[in-house]
Amino acid sequence: ASYHVDESCIFCLIVQGKIPSFKVFETEKSLAFLDINPVSEGHTLVISKYHGEKILDLPDEYLADIGPILKKVAKAIGAEQFNVIQNNGKMAMQHVDHVHFHIVPKPSPTEGLV
Ligand code: 5GP
Ligand code: ZN
Repeated sequence: ASYHVDESCIFCLIVQGKIPSFKVFETEKSLAFLDINPVSEGHTLVISKYHGEKILDLPDEYLADIGPILKKVAKAIGAEQFNVIQNNGKMAMQHVDHVHFHIVPKPSPTEGLV
């Protein structure tokens, strides 16, 4: 890969297909996949394929690639109302040290129907 990877990073392993994930959308620079521990149905993570810990560590072209994907993923998972959450640093509740944007549907598509 031309982008920077960290072999000890779980999200870099997902990018490389060494850990399986349920892919929602992908570009040359970014990947969207379902969160393994969803807060609501459809909870998706959008990550840069470039390993950067915080958004400050991402080259602009990788950060820029993510914006339009947020729209595509929301449409793909049928989320009309949702939160986009992005944590930078331990004190900001970041647990996986690889930039990621959460898309959390509100309410869950099924919850909204019952
Ligand atoms: P953070 O707390 O860093 O903002 O979010 C990390 C997210 O990554 C959590 O919602 C967690 O469920 C998710 N996660 C951690 N490990 C894996 C994994 O191996 N596969 C997937 N699909 N999600 C993961
Ligand atoms: Zn990484």
